[in-house]
Amino acid sequence: SDPTLRPEKLPEDTDRALRPQMLGEFIGQAEARANLAVFIESARMRGEAMDHTLFHGPPGLGKTTLAQIMARELGVGFRMTSGPVLAKPGDLAAILTNLEPRDVLFIDEIHRLSPVVEEVLYPALEDFALDLVIGEGPAARTVRIDLQPFTLVGATTRLGLLTTPLRDRFGIPTRLEFYSEAELYEIVARGARLMGLAAEPEGCREIARRARGTPRIAGRLLRRVADFALVEAGGRISRELADRALTRLQVDNLGLDGADRRYLTLLAGNYGGGPVGVETIAAALSEPRDAIEEVIEPYLLQQGLILRTPRGRMLGAKAWRHLGLEAPKVPDA
Ligand code: ADP
Repeated sequence: SDPTLRPEKLPEDTDRALRPQMLGEFIGQAEARANLAVFIESARMRGEAMDHTLFHGPPGLGKTTLAQIMARELGVGFRMTSGPVLAKPGDLAAILTNLEPRDVLFIDEIHRLSPVVEEVLYPALEDFALDLVIGEGPAARTVRIDLQPFTLVGATTRLGLLTTPLRDRFGIPTRLEFYSEAELYEIVARGARLMGLAAEPEGCREIARRARGTPRIAGRLLRRVADFALVEAGGRISRELADRALTRLQVDNLGLDGADRRYLTLLAGNYGGGPVGVETIAAALSEPRDAIEEVIEPYLLQQGLILRTPRGRMLGAKAWRHLGLEAPKVPDA
């Protein structure tokens, strides 16, 4: 599907201008924000490293942004890596030994850490120490090296894939939720202002409504709509222009894109609405199972378009309506 519509990271997301820099500029996630404000303030008052924090939730909801904001609010350094990048224990050890006191270390996709690397993390998180094994075989011994106190911020789209011991080491687990239309409106309006665009409120609202609950998608749709506005409407983002541009980008009026619609159409057309196992869906759509579960399904579930049952996924009544199809009659209720 068109990569501009997917919530996964793309290079243009490193576009710094739109990223909120401080907690006060961060829109939405009110509960998480209020709690973080307290924990940040408390850590500052104690002059200690803040507790290890885990952000979980679908891609593009602000996990990385919040980690960066934490470092800035705490007035400490920020180091960033990711589970798949840390191939060997030495990769992680090198980063840990180079941290300054109270730094924030951000590990994205922390559920993809290899078990041997995770082993290195346990004493680091608990005692701010590294246990290095020197030598091999019977002569091997362990040497403990002290680390600077630091804050690990982990991010994951799949809480269920984290090992229990790792999960238990986070003092502050925080779930990020999809954004409301009103929150996305504020994000789009702020983005338009920062980008110097002539955007009418109703134009911003149309983009917000179709951003799939996700700030990353809102930002991307805003950029694409701005392109259409520049070329076709003298730079002005009206509701009509936004609607036309989004329709051309194949974002429908629920904010669903081609991949979402293929998923729903498969369940309706080939499986009478389900239940269908996720493996079957992944094979039929030629998408990795992870992408189905991390990227496509969370929003469809949140919208009530699909339901998760013990026997597999089922289409909700709203999905049948959205597809303009009649739901099959349930034989015996
Ligand atoms: P994640 O790490 O959860 O995948 P990011 O933190 O990278 O998500 O955020 C994705 C994009 O959305 C970034 O470009 C960021 O600027 C923007 N963004 C996320 N949350 C907000 C927010 N609350 N307000 C404004 N922009 C946001």
